[in-house]
Formats: sequence, C-alpha cells, structure tokens
Amino acid sequence: TQTVEEVTDIEEEEKIQTRVTYNIVFVTSEAAPYSKTGGLGDVSGSLPIALATRGHRVMVVSPRYQNGTLSDKRYAGASDVDCHIKVYCFGGEQEVAFFHEYREGVDWVFVDHPSYHRPGNPYGDSYGAFGDNQFRFTLLCHAACEAPLVLPLGGFTYGEKCLFLVNDWHASLVPILLAAKYRPYGVYKDARSILVIHNLAHQGVEPAATYSSLGLPPQWYGALEWVFPTWARTHALDTGEAVNVLKGAIVTADRILTVSKGYAWEITTTEGGYGLNGLLSSRKSVLNGITNGIDVADWDPSSDEHIPFCYSADDLSGKVQCKTALQKELGLPIQPNCPLIGFIGRLDYQKGIDLIQDAIPELMEDDVQFVMLGSGDQRFEDWMRATEETYKNKFRGWVGFNVPISHRITAGCDILLMPSRFEPCGLNQLYAMRYGTVPVVHGTGGLKDTVETFNPYARGGSGEGTGWTFSPLSKESMLAALRVAISTYREHKSTWEGLMRRGMEKDYTWESAATQYEQVFEWAFIDPP
Ligand code: ADP
Repeated sequence: TQTVEEVTDIEEEEKIQTRVTYNIVFVTSEAAPYSKTGGLGDVSGSLPIALATRGHRVMVVSPRYQNGTLSDKRYAGASDVDCHIKVYCFGGEQEVAFFHEYREGVDWVFVDHPSYHRPGNPYGDSYGAFGDNQFRFTLLCHAACEAPLVLPLGGFTYGEKCLFLVNDWHASLVPILLAAKYRPYGVYKDARSILVIHNLAHQGVEPAATYSSLGLPPQWYGALEWVFPTWARTHALDTGEAVNVLKGAIVTADRILTVSKGYAWEITTTEGGYGLNGLLSSRKSVLNGITNGIDVADWDPSSDEHIPFCYSADDLSGKVQCKTALQKELGLPIQPNCPLIGFIGRLDYQKGIDLIQDAIPELMEDDVQFVMLGSGDQRFEDWMRATEETYKNKFRGWVGFNVPISHRITAGCDILLMPSRFEPCGLNQLYAMRYGTVPVVHGTGGLKDTVETFNPYARGGSGEGTGWTFSPLSKESMLAALRVAISTYREHKSTWEGLMRRGMEKDYTWESAATQYEQVFEWAFIDPP
C-alpha cells in the first residue's frame, strides 16, 4: 500500500506529465544568489526554479559579473561551456563566452565579456551608473537570443520553439531582435516573448544616434523612437530625439506582464505611465499583473540561519528575542516593549525616503526606536549617518547592502515602514508579514494589493487585515498610520498578535504565482496578438 505522500507524489507527477511544458529562456540583468540589487534579483533567483519544478525546461541568461577580487566566488559553480560566439554591435565584433551551472533543475547561463568585469554592482559604482550600460545590455540580449540555438545544455539545445521571458529594459532588446533580426529569416517563427515590467521608471533611453549601434535593421527605428521631455534636453538645438528600448519591447513582445495587478493598472495612467501610458493602454488586451512570490525557504523564521532565534506563528517567543538581539547588535537600549520600526530598501526617491526625513523629528519625540538599512543616493546616506548622531538612543542608519542584516531587521522589528511613491510589487512587506512584522505602507501598486488593511471589527470582532495602508502620500498621513500602529502595539497586545499571525499565515509562495504565469504562457502561444 502507498502512503498519502506517495499517492500525492504520483498525482503531482501525473499532473506534471499532462501539463503543457515550455522551453523557457529567462533573460535578466541580475539573479540571486549570483547578483542582486533589488527585487528583480530575488524574482530571477526563484521564479525559474518554481517553473522548472512544474516541469518546464528553464534557462536563465544573465551576465557573469566579476568584481576583480580573488574572493569573488559567486560564479564558482559555473563552468565554461566552450562555446564562443561573435556579436556584431557598436561598430565592431564582440566575442562573448557562456558559463553554465545546472542547479535546482535550472540551466543558469552566464554571458561572459570583459565589460562585466569591474567593481561595483551590475549597473554602476560609487561614481554613478556605468557609461556603457547600453552596450553591456545590448550584448546580453544578442547573446540571449543565440543561447537557445547554440548551447547544447545537457546534450540538447533549447531550439527555436521557446518562450523568452524578458525582464525590464536591460533585456528589452530581445523581442525586438526576434522580430527584426531573426523572424525575417525564418528563425524563431514559433517562439514567443513576454516582457515582464518590474519597474517602468527605467526604460533604457539613449540618444537617437546610438540606434545604429544596436545591431538592428534601419527600418525598425520607429519601434524604438522616442523624444526626451523638454526639461531633459541639454541645449536649445537639442530636439530630444532618442531611442527607448523598453518602448520597443512593449511594441514587439507577444504579451506584457507586471509584478502586481495594481501596478498593471497604474502604468496605464498618466500618473504612473512615465510617458508610456498611452502605448501600454493600447496593449491592454495582452497586459496582465501577477504578484511576485517569495522564496519561502530563504525567508522562513522557523529555519532562517541569519537570525539568532527561530520562531513560528505557533510559538512567537523567539521574535522578541530577535528584537532584543537586534537592539544589542545596533547598540540601541535593550527595551523589549519599545516599538521598533524598520526600513529596508534602496535609498531612492521612489522609496519615499524624503518623507521619512521629514517625519523623523516628530517621530523621535515619541518613545520609539527606528532602524534603516539601505544604500543608494549619497544625500540620503549622509542624512542617515547624521540622524544617527542626533538621536543616538533611538535611530540607527546602516548604510550598505547586507542580506544577513536585512533578515535580522525583518525578524527583530515590530513594524516595517514602506512609504514608496510607487511600488510595482515590493518584497519587503511580504518578508515582513512572514516574519510577524506588521507593515505600514503607502497604498500604491503591489503594496496596496498585498497588505490587507486592519479592520478590528470584522469577523465578529476578531478582526482582519495584516497591516496599514496610508494615502495620500504625505508626512501627515504616514505619521497618522504609524501612530495608530504604535498605539495598537502598546495598548492591544492580543489584537497585535492577531495582526502578526494573519500576516504569517498568508500564502506568497511562488507556486501560486507560477500557475498564473503558465496561464499567460498558454495565451502567448494560442492567442498571439
Ligand atoms: P526594489 O526591487 O524596488 O529594490 P523590492 O522590495 O521589490 O524593491 O526588493 C528589494 C529587495 O532588495 C529585497 O529583497 C530587499 O530585502 C533587498 N534589499 C534592498 N536594499 C537592501 C540592503 N541595503 N541590504 C540588503 N538587502 C536589501
């Protein structure tokens, strides 16, 4: 006789065997754990694995970044495939190599070229963005288009009938190349492409004169044609003529996805569309939003190796121990009952750091502690350091990118603040909820979709909701929401525990997101626009 697990395994196996599966080529500028600056890295590190688990053949194509130090072992598991190709772009011939690692059912393919070997993150260093990013990501896209044709991974190439999932502007040249460079010659006629927009604010806009460097036929210029807004023009004779690769992908991809339903709508409006709202509206019939999942193994308070005490919804005692350990680590007074508020994220205008700046003097009058972890805009980094000096017993500003600390802050805080101006999906609020840390967020995009507003009277008084969403985006409304959260924490312990538990029980696995992705794959093949 079979055990329940065995029967379930067989049923799952049967389901996989009857499911339509695809050869998926996932093109991305970053993929955790190899490279990560934000949510795109997290998604690229876990969605491909979730899709492979469901029976698809999945290849991730990303650059092989090297920072030039001997301790850089990020790609140690990937070996040279011994397949070098030549890419013609930017007025010359570039040789790129491919490295490959088969891990967790996924072919991780890394494009190697000297332009990816330098200190800094994937996009820049302390002096700002790299000046040759257009070149670096053009190379990535050309290489990604060749990879399924030339790489014999596990003995077989992926072949032409594949599905390209291209992420953000860095990968946006792929659907344009399919349309302009390959299909006219009969190659990739049965392939499909899906553009996934993680952040519309970055579009890969460059001067029009660079078009001829991209390796596209001249007649495709219109797909990328763009005009800089007047304020961005450098001199009176500047006509603002530019190319926009994200726009090109919106025009040429078979389908378009964003990382939440709320954001899918926002980008079709003048407010959230960054000049592309009209075009996106015209493609509404192929535009969908799917909320990101999270890596529930990596972010699990019951087994997280980065935190000093593990805990679960059944036994929350470890959480307060994590809090006091964090206070100790940060050199803050150890006060288990003092509300500890956290912020984690890029120090960018998008994240509403200026609002936190404005609110801190008033917030610090209250008996609370505040910790911020982030890097980015120099002004905000300097401000964090100075604020720490001003409020020695209450405020800590950790400047830098540090994954273990981000786990300890997520576990140790009571409240996570996210006053993002816009937020395509947002992952930190999902991690926070899983760790029983109650989010207070601006009601926008994915934040609004995922944080359920607290309602103490629902369900016969037992309450519902997982946090607070505030709107409009102002210091006053943010402070008001924070103060209600703080009072609830101080004065209504059991209600607070209800909030924590409901958040911890939410399902944000990639499993459910992957099922929705499959639906969109099916539409891409059966219903090409
Ligand atoms: P975005 O992609 O806009 O940066 P998300 O909330 O989608 O925002 O994802 C941010 C990811 O980057 C999360 O995994 C977050 O924990 C991580 N992160 C951001 N800043 C830091 C930092 N300074 N140190 C460690 N992790 C960070």
